Amino acid sequence: MFDNLSLKLDKAFKTLKGQGSITEVNVATTMKEIRRALIDADVNYKVAKDVTDEIKEKALGQDVLTAVSPGQLLTKITNDELTQLMGGSHEDINIKGSPAVILISGLQGSGKTTFSGKLANMLKKQGNTVMLAACDIYRPAAIDQLKVLGEQIGVEVYAEPENKNAVQIANNAIKAAKDGGKKVLIVDTAGRLAVDEEMMNEISDLKKALDPSETLFVVDSMTGQDAVNTAKTFNERLNFDGVVLTKLDGDTRGGAAISIRRVVEKPIKFISHGEKMEAIDKFHPDRMANRILGMGDVVSLVEKAQQNFDEEEARRLNKKIRKNQFDFDDFLSQLEQIKKMGNIKDLMGMIPGMGKALKDIDVDDDSFKPIEAIIRSMTTEERATPDIINGSRRARIAKGSGTSVQQVNNLIKQFGDMRKMMKTMNKMGGGKRGLAALN
Ligand code: GDP
Repeated sequence: MFDNLSLKLDKAFKTLKGQGSITEVNVATTMKEIRRALIDADVNYKVAKDVTDEIKEKALGQDVLTAVSPGQLLTKITNDELTQLMGGSHEDINIKGSPAVILISGLQGSGKTTFSGKLANMLKKQGNTVMLAACDIYRPAAIDQLKVLGEQIGVEVYAEPENKNAVQIANNAIKAAKDGGKKVLIVDTAGRLAVDEEMMNEISDLKKALDPSETLFVVDSMTGQDAVNTAKTFNERLNFDGVVLTKLDGDTRGGAAISIRRVVEKPIKFISHGEKMEAIDKFHPDRMANRILGMGDVVSLVEKAQQNFDEEEARRLNKKIRKNQFDFDDFLSQLEQIKKMGNIKDLMGMIPGMGKALKDIDVDDDSFKPIEAIIRSMTTEERATPDIINGSRRARIAKGSGTSVQQVNNLIKQFGDMRKMMKTMNKMGGGKRGLAALN
């Protein structure tokens, strides 16, 4: 989903790699790339411009924390902006009345019938009694299609194949649903290949006659800007309540998802991403933004770092690392900082790809306990100058910490390797942000 856009945004953020801070100059370059990526993704030009202007303004007003690189900070700001752009938070559909009527509108081929089935299935699983009404009076095949779906999900379908009056069929369906004690009636309607006056009249007549508690507009996300324009036209006539974006499984660009809310001023309520009845999700702007950025989990990680990292301490550690003076006390302090950020497994799972790798492995705060015990069993002198820790000292430390000599050896070896790496990084000039940086 949205792979092209994710890749390009990632590339845009990389232009900040190695930069120590966010400046007018470097942010302008990155914004240009982000804007281009959005426009290539078929995002409405004005929306792309507005959003990059907003990101730039926010980025320049922010202090860059030692714990977070400019690229990461900008990712977080972009994530917040995209979330707001797509509506901020999830909006549910209204289910009111007996039965509650949900009217489904949209062009032919947008995925209305498939979505009607998916929604019925979802509502049924949530414990509602549901009926579907086939009100496409032009295509007998659409009625059959809905009947097949209804059978598949175990939901009754109301149809009158001979009747050519959609309002009449829908009214009869309401009566049937009421008689059958159904809580929700989903009305699938006829579409056309393009917007035309007759279709608009029909669907607005249906809305007036049925007074639905929710009117949804279904649109194929793969049509990008066309999807946004069609949504605008439908909304002007129909004043619908929410948008359903379909075929997201085939959409590598994402323009419709990003622009529709800002242009049409109606929330996206569902997304559909496949032909199976289960391929439907409630739309959550924040999760979508995470997906678009392809690094959603890092966003939470940065947030946590912002909330929990002690700036002063990070600065002090950086200094010591740069002077090749990082010792066991600093190591302990670093562990404390990481622990403050939350559950270790959750934390590591926020790194893209890591969650999957850690699925079956047990990592928790307790994993640090032997390490802490070993360090705490060292004398002040030993912590500051680990080189003096000889064989007899190791045996004493192991005994004191309730660990084995091998565990002590391992930790001292790892610590030594770490110091060597820091030294090399310092020599190469790459240790500026040191261990305290997250990348
Ligand atoms: P309608 O004319 O608006 O009722 O559209 P349909 O529900 O008949 O869907 C048109 C075509 O798109 C059908 O072949 C569906 O199987 C397919 N379709 C619908 N939703 C999705 C989706 O989310 N992903 C994919 N890949 N295909 C879909």
